[in-house]
Amino acid sequence: MARLVTSIAVVFLASAWAITGVPGTSLAEAIDEVEARLFARTLAIPVPGVEPSQLRDAYYDRRGAKLHEALDILAPRGTPVVATDDGYVVKLFRSVPGGLTVYQSDTANEVVFYYAHLDRYAEGLREGQRVQRGDVIGYVGTTGNAASDNPHLHFAIFKLPPGKEWWKGTPINPLPFYKRHVAN
Ligand SMILES: [Zn+2]
Repeated sequence: MARLVTSIAVVFLASAWAITGVPGTSLAEAIDEVEARLFARTLAIPVPGVEPSQLRDAYYDRRGAKLHEALDILAPRGTPVVATDDGYVVKLFRSVPGGLTVYQSDTANEVVFYYAHLDRYAEGLREGQRVQRGDVIGYVGTTGNAASDNPHLHFAIFKLPPGKEWWKGTPINPLPFYKRHVAN
């Protein structure tokens, strides 16, 4: 009986968890659910061959008046960069700080993964393209404001707002998701 009650409770919680906007669910809780779903998946470190132990927490590093809010993964120029999760290429964008960048959503369009300072894109990469975890999407470089002698991938995760605008996400620290999972 105890097991049955537990099962019912788990099913109930799982259902409640899957529904956003139910009475009593605050916006903060809804946002945490996005992170919980991300935690439940296995993500690939976006530079193959890099181990979780090599990742350094740079999320709270200061960049002038702002926080860095991303991981920097050091690798030689030209090292492949892979999709960390299944999803879609939302935007290929060139910016002054980020240089050549990719915004990739997850399949549920709840978060975007941001890959910056790329040397170049993978051949034929296009917006709207479906990608799977581990697919090569580009190569490590120093475009944008990266020092030319410091090739690295600047990698961030943003929770998307209700309108799903790829440029309006709220950053979350990527590190815990990669310290926890080993997948490459
Ligand atoms: Zn960075």
